[in-house]
Amino acid sequence: MKIAIVGYGPGGAAAATAARTFDPKADILLLTEEKIPAHKKPGSALALENPNTKELYIPDWSPEMLSSKRIEVRTGTSVVGGNLKEGTIEVVSSKGKTSMIGYDRLIIATGGTPNVPDIPGVDLPGVFTIQSMADTSVIGEEMSKKQSFLIVGAGFSALETAERLYKMGKDVHIIVRSRLMRTQLEESMSEELLSRIPRKIQLHLGHAPSRVLGSKKAEGVEVGGKEVGADAVLFMTGVRPNTNLAEKVGLKVGPLGGIPVNSRMETEIEGVFAVGDCVEMTDPLTNGPILLPIGSTAARAGKQAGVAAVGREKVYDDTALRLQYDRIFDTDIVCIGHSSTTARGLDVDTKVSYVEDSSESMKVALVTAKDDRLIGGQVLGARMGARVGYEITKRVEKGVKLKEQPLLESRHDQILALLERSLGPIR
Ligand SMILES: Cc1cc2nc3c(=O)[nH]c(=O)nc-3n(C[C@H](O)[C@H](O)[C@H](O)COP(=O)(O)OP(=O)(O)OC[C@H]3O[C@@H](n4cnc5c(N)ncnc54)[C@H](O)[C@@H]3O)c2cc1C
Repeated sequence: MKIAIVGYGPGGAAAATAARTFDPKADILLLTEEKIPAHKKPGSALALENPNTKELYIPDWSPEMLSSKRIEVRTGTSVVGGNLKEGTIEVVSSKGKTSMIGYDRLIIATGGTPNVPDIPGVDLPGVFTIQSMADTSVIGEEMSKKQSFLIVGAGFSALETAERLYKMGKDVHIIVRSRLMRTQLEESMSEELLSRIPRKIQLHLGHAPSRVLGSKKAEGVEVGGKEVGADAVLFMTGVRPNTNLAEKVGLKVGPLGGIPVNSRMETEIEGVFAVGDCVEMTDPLTNGPILLPIGSTAARAGKQAGVAAVGREKVYDDTALRLQYDRIFDTDIVCIGHSSTTARGLDVDTKVSYVEDSSESMKVALVTAKDDRLIGGQVLGARMGARVGYEITKRVEKGVKLKEQPLLESRHDQILALLERSLGPIR
């Protein structure tokens, strides 16, 4: 069995290792046009300070580790086409040599492309996106020459980068079209997060930028009719699926712009799988299409595709579940499953209830469907966010009703439990 995998991010690397675990004999070939191994994009913010840092490489997926599992890695190799009926792909090697490679199973994990709005000035020097390590290296090298930074976007990576720049002593502006983490957080959770952002960071809420200022280099943006000056502009406005290769080989693209896959991560063509930021997955709640451009999701999807590619029937049920955790501005931020916004996008009515614990500076939003089934949750907390997030995840995965398994005991129950511990049964 010959398995060809295009892409050496979390999706491709996880697919390769899972395929090897379940098929000791398969020939596994991993191709990437980048010259570096799988790395953490989450650590991109770190690379702002340390361009070309090797600290971001993922040891479990290093070329040496993969080679020890008899997985062949070819870096600097672009896949430029193929014939899915014949089972071949066309590759251009790092030396510019073109050849055809045959496969029995193909896994496409070509990632995403930064979403940059189509406004004047986005091509000026001093406008950046952070998608690849190469991008961060360029920004890192420019860092010492620049003092003020304008970040467009308010998702996890935008806020993480804002925090990093702030801690480096830079002047930071964040431009937010609507509110912080609009897709993942309920409105009152966004407000809570807003209250935790240091005052020195200047937030501009309610408008998207209409142009980048400057003629020879970026000098800021115009937003809501006002000019906001800065030495550099970072567009951190998410990614769209990179379907260049998929389209070239004739795979269809779905309504959200990704490669549609089923729960085994198989595309419309048998034996051809796709995972990670380039796909649209099937939402477990509604069977509708969803985009989840998250590293941990790409890795879980990669594992599923690797297992399916070697002929195993196993279908993991958490592959298309949003599981995001980060710690930004001394706050644990956890997002699980659906928010009311993502559910509404799939025509699902929700109810949101809130739990607050001021002693832990914690606020939790619990998103339930009409039948009281827990379908998602969000946690903001000074600490213990991951712990509470884990409790929510277990319940979302099991599809339990909130009344059947309340998330937190009420204060009264907690006090009784404490008393019982020292006094014995009292109820
Ligand atoms: C700044 C930033 C911060 C992030 N923070 C987090 C975080 O904290 N937690 C989290 O879970 N996720 C985070 N993410 C998202 C996460 O990094 C992505 O979801 C993940 O990398 C997607 O994995 P992937 O395997 O689909 O694609 P990628 O990791 O993007 O890899 C794509 C691969 O495809 C290769 N490729 C593409 N086209 C071709 C071709 N034609 N031929 C050969 N090779 C090709 C590329 O070289 C690359 O190896 C962040 C992303 C960014 C940009």
